[in-house]
Amino acid sequence: MARLILRVLRLCANAHRAVATKKIQSNLDRHVTQLLKCRRCPRMKSTPVSGGAILSDVLVIGQAPGPREPVLQRPFAHTAGKTLFRWFEEFCRMNEATVRSMIYFAAVCRCFPGKNSSGTDRVPAPDEIRNCSSWMDDEIRILRPRLIILVGRLAITQFIDCEKLGGVIGRKFRVARAGHRFDVIPLPHPSGASPWHKIPPGRELTVRALKLIARHPAVTALYKHRRRS
Ligand code: SF4
Repeated sequence: MARLILRVLRLCANAHRAVATKKIQSNLDRHVTQLLKCRRCPRMKSTPVSGGAILSDVLVIGQAPGPREPVLQRPFAHTAGKTLFRWFEEFCRMNEATVRSMIYFAAVCRCFPGKNSSGTDRVPAPDEIRNCSSWMDDEIRILRPRLIILVGRLAITQFIDCEKLGGVIGRKFRVARAGHRFDVIPLPHPSGASPWHKIPPGRELTVRALKLIARHPAVTALYKHRRRS
């Protein structure tokens, strides 16, 4: 009898979880549909780029798309993405397709800001960052992530103080935002514009950060889920 009751309780819990997951997925679907229609920033040079409504405990937050991402319609689609996905492959044993299908991709700004006078990608302005932050807050509210991976200084400074990359890369921080607490692990930007991650001490600190990501329970849960499916 006790065993039967336990079984019924387990079935009820599973059914409850399935309903909750469906609701989160439909909220996220709606969110991404709205995000793609956003036109708040008149100086942006593209429409928003999204990695899709991926239900995940792990978020990657970058700076902003470059010129290729709006064309290819996915974040980290060019040079920076090559390095970022190589890091995931090497340290987390997840190839690009797996990462894109299991991790939610966000950014400080979702549109391409255009080039500055020196020909490099323009850093989003404070008003654009403010405009876009509500999308990120909504994503945190909907997904309630356990881990956010912050890629590059602009993304890092939205969550923690960062005087020098060397003071934060290779460490994990507990932060709160949008009514939720979670871990953040910063990474240097892999764009190649800065060689910081290739030369000491940046190289060693980047390896330390990637090992922290690979060992994080939210990421190890992704491996297990992948093995089961
Ligand atoms: S940068 Fe963000 S807030 Fe601005 S138009 Fe693009 S999606 Fe909207």
